[in-house]
Amino acid sequence: MTNATEFARAQAVIPGGVNSPVRAYRSVGGTPRFLVSGHGAHVVDVEGREYVDLVGAWGPALLGHAHPTVVEAVQRAAARGLGFGAATPGESELAELLVERTTVGGTALLERVRLVSTGTEATMTAIRLARGATGRDLLVKFAGHYHGHSDGLLAESGSGVATLGLPGSAGVPAEIAGLTLVLPYNDLDAVREAFERYPDRIAAVITEAAGANAGILAPQPGFNAGLAELAHDHGALLILDEVLTGFRVGPAGCWGLQQAAGETYLPDLVAFGKVIGGGLPIAALGGRAAVMDLLAPLGPVYQAGTLSGNPVAVAAGLAQLRAATPDVYTGIEAASARLRDGLGAAFAAAGLPVTTPHVTSLFSLAFRDAAERGPIASYEDAKDQEGWRYGPFFAAMLEQGVSLPPSVYEAWFLSAAHGPEVVDRVLAALPAAVDAALAAVGP
Ligand code: PMP
Repeated sequence: MTNATEFARAQAVIPGGVNSPVRAYRSVGGTPRFLVSGHGAHVVDVEGREYVDLVGAWGPALLGHAHPTVVEAVQRAAARGLGFGAATPGESELAELLVERTTVGGTALLERVRLVSTGTEATMTAIRLARGATGRDLLVKFAGHYHGHSDGLLAESGSGVATLGLPGSAGVPAEIAGLTLVLPYNDLDAVREAFERYPDRIAAVITEAAGANAGILAPQPGFNAGLAELAHDHGALLILDEVLTGFRVGPAGCWGLQQAAGETYLPDLVAFGKVIGGGLPIAALGGRAAVMDLLAPLGPVYQAGTLSGNPVAVAAGLAQLRAATPDVYTGIEAASARLRDGLGAAFAAAGLPVTTPHVTSLFSLAFRDAAERGPIASYEDAKDQEGWRYGPFFAAMLEQGVSLPPSVYEAWFLSAAHGPEVVDRVLAALPAAVDAALAAVGP
């Protein structure tokens, strides 16, 4: 069995051979690795090759792969039954933990939480709730942000849509796409103008708490708070998408970091996913009780799910969140800082300056000289780079046993298992990969 034979086999029965587009390595070239196991900071492919993994399951693997505490919790829960489609105490426990962890300086981010299975469902439901609460139909989103693959959210989206260079998606009716206003990120004037242009029509502004799907696009200080103010002044809701950043950049996500830094604003609805499921499918939507209680069965906004709050997934999430102590975050941040410094130094030594924008440990690599072209603040900035250098860089790292995200627009995910020796292994692979990036030929 080889990666190539498995890819051929998969392509015969699965579109593109993958169940999520970026896994297909289209933007970096080469054969996707078919994985059979993962442990700590490492994954192993069907050929028995081990790689340092910097994909981190696209975010959930905060503690590393197959963390014994999480695996044990899953095994215990599975032995009690795989799912009942009925309420279970664990769901309240997870909801309580989310409320508790996201209360910062006495301010609670969440009053109610509903568990769903994917980030897509969480943001999709948030939008329906915002429309139900306001009786309005328009939605503001930002270029380069990704909020899952529901119809209204794919316009100028980040993640795979950006990687594949698509403007949006076929199959989305113009009437639905037309309800989404796509604005430049970090531009409060654009948001102000939209509210003036469409009075009483905008139901919500949705924003990634920090952009992380077109590389890392941090909000400028005051941007998220400014959004909250503008939305609320105009009778609209602010939906904060912490699917990727929640419990990843710190225990209370970007909102927690901002509160700690003195930005005291409250979004109306917040979406979580990834880390809160410990690797299994759990996501959540939470927020103010007055809005959340509009959900069925209390209110008129319908949302449901056969697998929502699945007990095995809940057990995984609880185990991971309980093990995610402040030390875990400090350790991951130290590993990230070393890696970013190493990347900067290796590329500088080759005379090819790069940028590594970051929010705490979460970072990405951009082939862009910040000294010459300025920092990355928008999707336009993120695209203004020599992204074609990433494919050869990625391939050279993979060849040396380091698995990076297969797109220049995706964040690199470290875990508690990425200790100093693991980071050493990544740093040792850099010189050859930097040479490959340097030798790359542009379009
Ligand atoms: N929002 C953000 C910010 C995300 O990064 C993602 C997924 N990468 C989603 C929503 C969608 O989550 P899911 O893939 O679980 O549907």
